[in-house]
Amino acid sequence: MDFKLGEEYEMLRQSVRDFAEGVLAPGVVDRDEKEYFDRGLFEKMGELGLTGIPFEEKYGGAGMDYLAYAIAVEELGRIDASAADTLSSHVSLGVWPIWNWGTEEQKQKYLLPLVEGKKLGAFGLTEAGAGSDAIAMSTKAVLDGDEWVLNGRKIFITNAEAADTYVVFARTRPKEMRSKAFSAFIVEKGTPGFTFGKFEKKMGLRGTQNCDLVFEDCRIPQENLLGQEGDGFKMSMETLDGGRIGIAAQSVGIAQGAYEIALAYAKQRVQFGKPISALQAIQFKLADMALEIKASRLLTYDAAWRKSQGLEFGTDAAMAKLKASETANRVANQAVQIHGGYGYTRDYPVERIMRDAKICEIYEGTSEIQRVVIGNSILR
Ligand SMILES: Cc1cc2nc3c(=O)[nH]c(=O)nc-3n(C[C@H](O)[C@H](O)[C@H](O)COP(=O)(O)OP(=O)(O)OC[C@H]3O[C@@H](n4cnc5c(N)ncnc54)[C@H](O)[C@@H]3O)c2cc1C
Repeated sequence: MDFKLGEEYEMLRQSVRDFAEGVLAPGVVDRDEKEYFDRGLFEKMGELGLTGIPFEEKYGGAGMDYLAYAIAVEELGRIDASAADTLSSHVSLGVWPIWNWGTEEQKQKYLLPLVEGKKLGAFGLTEAGAGSDAIAMSTKAVLDGDEWVLNGRKIFITNAEAADTYVVFARTRPKEMRSKAFSAFIVEKGTPGFTFGKFEKKMGLRGTQNCDLVFEDCRIPQENLLGQEGDGFKMSMETLDGGRIGIAAQSVGIAQGAYEIALAYAKQRVQFGKPISALQAIQFKLADMALEIKASRLLTYDAAWRKSQGLEFGTDAAMAKLKASETANRVANQAVQIHGGYGYTRDYPVERIMRDAKICEIYEGTSEIQRVVIGNSILR
């Protein structure tokens, strides 16, 4: 085994770090305060090639792999968790299913502009009555002539109204058929009958948008069925397996950012006549943070590498997401603790980072669901 990253990965890391520190950092507080999604930043990520990292050059991608993608998401997350979330929702959830299951016609029409970052993707699975239990979904699609007619409502959808192309899941067969009852569709913004509902006011990730997608007799062409009719549930689960690598990477980045800020603060904050970093109580916190971040990063890179190699990776991705998201929360919490009262104010970035970290334990499968996935795999 060789744990040293190749030069191309280190070059990518440096270029994303430069972008994050130079372009994202100056506005990160403002976007959080104003709850503002900046589409221009997404377009800049496209110009840098970040939106196409794991896709082939023939589709406008960089022809790299999921390890490279994880490194890029991690570097964004270190500075701006919202930017990391925008990229990972776009690549893992909005683009990858079209790349993996799309016909060549669908790829030419939808994949290219998504990969190039000219269009923004989104993924609509969750409903009010169907979160962890996606099979409870009630959105329906009925074939009428050569069009599918969609009716229903998706909630919490990342990239929200700003997106252009949505992968949406709906029931196409009777409820009794359970996991074979769903199909996936590509839905374009602007399709009659497709509107946007409630916008969420969130604890963190305030530089992203989330809203309801509303379908009322929304007619989409038959050729916008993605993959095989009846395969939607399997497709959604496979997509989330990959998505969890993105959330794990985002979590590692959030933790790394919080750790670096806490370390710098501990070195300069003087109490009892010496920097608090000289206190063993603070050193132990920093030691635990560094240890957990390293463990989380190794799990994340391993899952990304397995996916890139075409190996089975679902359990590894669940382990990486579970460990890294819990690490991000523990590290952010301890970073606030090291800052004392200042950490609880909005004058210091650890307050925002702690709010941003929480979602990583919830979306793309909660921590409880990751444990269900890992447990099932152990006992299979
Ligand atoms: C900011 C944000 C962005 C999101 N983006 C998207 C998106 O782009 N697309 C999309 O489709 N969805 C998105 N979601 C939805 C997200 O994936 C769900 O919120 C998540 O899967 C949990 O579902 P739920 O909220 O309905 O919680 P529930 O499923 O109601 O869970 C509530 C609690 O019960 C626990 N629980 C449920 N079932 C079990 C079980 N079997 N065993 C043990 N514990 C269990 C959960 O772990 C949790 O603690 C987003 C959500 C948020 C908040």
